[in-house]
Formats: sequence, C-alpha cells, structure tokens
Amino acid sequence: MMKNSRRDFLQKLAASAMTMPVLSSYGAFSKLDLYPPSYQGPTLRVALMGLGGYASRVAAAMQDCKRAKITGLISGTPSKIKDWRAKYDIPEKNCYNYENFDNVKDNPDIDAVYVITPNALHHEHVIRVAQAGKHAICEKPMAINAKEGQDMVDACAKANVKLLVGYRMHFEPKTLEVVRMRTEGELGNIKFFQGLCGFRIGDPNQWRLDKALAGGGALMDIGIYAINGARYMVGEEPVWVTAQETKTDNVKFKEGVDETILFQLGFPSGALASCLSTYNMNYLDRFFLNGENGFAELQPSTGYGPIKGRTNKGELSQPHITHQTLQMDEMAGIILDDNKPIVPVDGLEGLKDLKIIDAIYQACATGNRQELQL
Ligand code: NAD
Repeated sequence: MMKNSRRDFLQKLAASAMTMPVLSSYGAFSKLDLYPPSYQGPTLRVALMGLGGYASRVAAAMQDCKRAKITGLISGTPSKIKDWRAKYDIPEKNCYNYENFDNVKDNPDIDAVYVITPNALHHEHVIRVAQAGKHAICEKPMAINAKEGQDMVDACAKANVKLLVGYRMHFEPKTLEVVRMRTEGELGNIKFFQGLCGFRIGDPNQWRLDKALAGGGALMDIGIYAINGARYMVGEEPVWVTAQETKTDNVKFKEGVDETILFQLGFPSGALASCLSTYNMNYLDRFFLNGENGFAELQPSTGYGPIKGRTNKGELSQPHITHQTLQMDEMAGIILDDNKPIVPVDGLEGLKDLKIIDAIYQACATGNRQELQL
C-alpha cells in the first residue's frame, strides 16, 4: 500500500478512512458530493478510444464527474463519431481514427487518452498515446502478457506520462473499508482469501473468444479480478501459484481460450488464496477474506454494483457510487495533483497481474507450481 498524500476533498475523505476506527465518513456523501458542487479547479480532459460497450458506460458515468470530462473521441467508425459528438458535444477537431490518433500530440484540449479497445490492442494503443505525449488510462487486462506490459510501462516512463489501469474496484467504498479493516489489524493476521469470478459468455463470435484479440479467455477478462483482488485483500504479493484448467466446450473455447481455471496463490506470510475464473457460470462474483480474528465477505464483489458486503462486525453500509464516476474523478487527482491512491492503479500494478496471469497459464500447461517474483 502506498502512503497517503491526498490533497483534495475526496482524498481527505479517503485518508480519514485509513485512520478512523469506523469508516462512517462515506455515509454522509452521495455521488454528487464527491467534490463540492462549486468545484472550479482543473479538469482532466480525456479522449475515449474504442467506442464500444464499456466506453459507453464510462462516458455516461463521466457526465457526473467533477474533475474529469470527455473532450475527444477515437474510433474507426465514422457513424459512431457522429453520434457520440452530438451526444457529448465534442468538436470535430478533437476526433480521430486509428490511423491518425498520433496527432493528439498537437491537441491542447486533450490531457489523457482512455484506451477501451480489445485486450491485444492495448499494447500498441498505449505506446502510441505515450509517444504522443499524453497520459494513458488503459482498460484491464493492461496487455496480454507481462512482456507487452513491461513495454508499455517503459514507453510511458520514457515519455514522462502516467499510465493508469482501469481498476475501478480500487476506489469502491466497501472494498476500501475491508482494506482499511485489514490494514488496521481488525481481522487479525490474514490467513485466507477466496475469489470467485465468472459469467456465462454468449455470442461465440465475439472478440473475447478470439485468442488473437483477447489474449486468452476468462482469466484475462474476469479471472483477473480474483488475481487483483487477492493482492489488495490479502495485502501482500504472492510468491507462488498453482493452477488447474478444465474445458467442457472445445468448440466455443478454442485452443488458447480458457473456459474455467482454478488457481491457488501462496503469500510470504503463509496466507493462501483459492480462486475460480470461468466463462461458464452466472452469478459467480464473490470475495471472502479470513483472518485470525475476523472475516469480510463481498457478494457481489466486482460487478458494477451496488457491491454488498458484511464482516464479523456486521453489514457494510458505505454507499454505492457509480464506479466509473468515482474512478475518473480519482484518476484526475492522480494525474493532475500526483495523488497516491490507497490501492495503486499504475502500470506496475497492471504488470504484476500480467506476471501472475503468465504464471497461471504456465502452471496449467505444465501442472507444476510456478514461483513468482513481482
Ligand atoms: P466492445 O467489443 O464492446 O468494444 C470494443 C471497441 O473496440 C469497439 O468499439 C470496437 O469497434 C473497437 N475496436 C477497435 N479496433 C478493433 C478491432 N481490431 N477488433 C475489434 N474491435 C475493435 O468491448 P468492451 O466490452 O467495451 O471491452 C473493451 C475493453 O474494456 C476490454 O479490454 C475489456 O476487458 C475492458 N472492459 C473493462 C470493464 C471494467 O469493468 N473495467 C468492463 C468491460 C470491458
């Protein structure tokens, strides 16, 4: 966990959550109170790249942001640009396609590009954004393997721009309350985490089932929440992984596209995580953390919310705040004010998850335990 050095309204609020015995502060705020209604400070001006399903959700949520706004669009489909321009009042000069978006470097209306394209394209897209001198926000998984992830981290460091990963759960109030309880020792020494993440995938022709665009299967798409969650819930970096794969449909889930993987992580303290990643079960969205003196349970744990949870002390009552609204306001603070989030969302954080994903696939292929160095 990084040390708190928050300066603005929400950061102070979150910082108090780290020190107060009960996180009641969130209870007093609705989503519109994240920043004072009169907020007049600097705004992060974001171009959205890849105007698909998730970008639509992000764009709608950003209408409630106080510190971040959409000022540009990048798409290969002219009709989408036309519709989105009208909907979000974006000037034509701030719209690009995949051939010419390098020209954002000369556009003073754009501070950052949010890459929301299929997984295998993140590598090229983020590197080109960095080379254009703009900050990059990249959807999960950050890339399709650790080598590509490292290239992206290096390219952003070289260009002196920030690289952030769309880990929206890192800002979610109930999740942060469990992190606070664990950090302050209220659960005792952590012994066990269980992360169950899955849904039944539909259309067999979608890019998520195409290894070339997805980089894998359920693990890349939904299992990554259990990997990432194990790390921020246990509060340590795993040192080994074992994994087992099973496939019931070889037609839908082709070579290299995993349907179901069960994996285990070992942590330096001796804590263990047991996780399930699948494209073959609905309603699988549960985190369970157990320490010597307490437990925390989130179900649903990573869906769009509301997240629900309870601990040995009772129900979690922090309010639901639209995840992408909170994420983009917080990311504005990270980019503009150099704020440090309670749970990191930078490129190195994304890279750690990719190293674990590589090791899980290796463990499935070999049957052997893989040592990890994150
Ligand atoms: P989607 O298929 O709905 O949208 C993808 C967009 O990329 C489309 O607009 C498509 O036109 C565009 N695109 C550009 N080049 C393409 C190409 N060569 N092939 C196919 N499409 C191309 O997918 P989505 O659900 O919006 O997912 C996009 C990214 O967002 C993925 O990395 C995914 O993991 C991530 N995502 C994150 C969350 C979250 O909660 N953080 C949720 C959903 C998706």
